[in-house]
Amino acid sequence: MSHTAPDLVDYDEAVARFDPVIGIEVHVELGTLTKMFCAAEVEFGGEPNTQVTPVSLGLPGALPVLNGTAVEYAIRIGLALNCQIAESCRFARKNYFYPDVPKNFQTSQYDEPIAFDGYLDVELDDGSIFRVEIERAHMEEDAGKNTHVGGSTGRIHGAEYSLVDYNRAGIPLVEIVTRPIEGAGERAPEVARAYVQTIRDIFRALGVSEARMERGNVRADVNLSLRPTPESPLGTRTETKNVNSFRSVERAVRYEISRQAAVLDAGERVVQETRHWHEDTSTTTSGRVKSDAEDYRYFPEPDLVPVAPSREWVEEIRATLPELPAARRRRLQGEWGYSDPEMRDVVNAGAMELIETTIEAGSSPAAARKWWMGELARTAKTTEVELSELPVTPEQIGQLQSLVDSGRINDKIARQVLEGVLAGEGSPEEIVSARGLEIVSDDGPLLEAIDAALAAQPDIAEKIRSGNLGPVGAVIGAVMKATRGQADAGRVRELILERTT
Ligand code: MN
Repeated sequence: MSHTAPDLVDYDEAVARFDPVIGIEVHVELGTLTKMFCAAEVEFGGEPNTQVTPVSLGLPGALPVLNGTAVEYAIRIGLALNCQIAESCRFARKNYFYPDVPKNFQTSQYDEPIAFDGYLDVELDDGSIFRVEIERAHMEEDAGKNTHVGGSTGRIHGAEYSLVDYNRAGIPLVEIVTRPIEGAGERAPEVARAYVQTIRDIFRALGVSEARMERGNVRADVNLSLRPTPESPLGTRTETKNVNSFRSVERAVRYEISRQAAVLDAGERVVQETRHWHEDTSTTTSGRVKSDAEDYRYFPEPDLVPVAPSREWVEEIRATLPELPAARRRRLQGEWGYSDPEMRDVVNAGAMELIETTIEAGSSPAAARKWWMGELARTAKTTEVELSELPVTPEQIGQLQSLVDSGRINDKIARQVLEGVLAGEGSPEEIVSARGLEIVSDDGPLLEAIDAALAAQPDIAEKIRSGNLGPVGAVIGAVMKATRGQADAGRVRELILERTT
């Protein structure tokens, strides 16, 4: 196949002349023990086709039974996204023929989703809040997985044969669909990324999914269209499928903005189609021309009764919703007394949990922030790892700070101890005793060092005795040097004054 790279308009120029509108569909795999409509177990990494039943294989006569936990999880998601929960809703058959769907239809929901009309407030990098309107969250089942063998691309073209694994077929999914997201302008890529990140964090907080992007537990389809001005009608959109990381969501939107701008500049029309995202080149390529809903011949699923969650049950679920990430962040910020920019830096650095545990281990909030956002952030940066990957635990930082607070070591020594911890020498406590770093708290050796310093500089001693305290610092310096920094400077000062009066 010969592909010529499409023309791209420079991003800044594209967003200066066009108004981007995004729409995001997120599929999340629910962490239930069994599948949506049968008792086949769900576990990641099983031998192919071992987690199947006649229902998930679509054998004739097999009848589905709805998984109650999946419905509960769907309601939890709906409530967390500020949605209405349907009093009654039905499943529908979405008909299409593809080997990974053995029934030749996907059991989904069409015009009667379980949750609808919600919103999600998303915090952007600068701390501003962008509200994304949610159109619906509906229940459906996952498809199986095709593997195309023998080609160079892993795609069906050029493959010698294909294998299909039905372990994934029938795993419960919730699909969350936004309304068109308008008004993001040049920040459309950032809004898309922040939305997917925020909703992923919510899935985890709700306990409805492990929500691991790299395992495909969360998959995002990103719709994008351009129009000349915010007042113009919506342009033709493309849908980039299965974008599997936050960074890729951002880059896929960015790429489509530049690509569609070039198409429109050339006086051509954007084709309504699905597109594939290529991680290696950060580009999208044409997939298939997008089916309209009519092509799927949706009709109500006759083998399942309507789902009618009682209002009592919905309220019970609402009452057990955990604290959601945004609220938790606000609460911790209040408890810790961090300013908005301080908290934002902490969150962006992925340090919130680390700091929380450090504080639990005995550190003050200010000291915990100082360690993680100072010394440790610098180390992480120079060694090019995440803070959480550094060879030091929050408990160790808490212990280190406790040693400082109890006066057993000072700040300067604490940094040496931290170096030791990072070098794998042991816990702060172990390093302090192994290296003999504890502050000299016995006055004897301090007095010896003070007397020696005063004797070495009789003129300075004389000045201090006559009431000129200016040179006291020089004596403290000499004592610190003599004790290799392991003296408490305040105590040394006291002793000097006692000695000279
Ligand atoms: Mn879907």
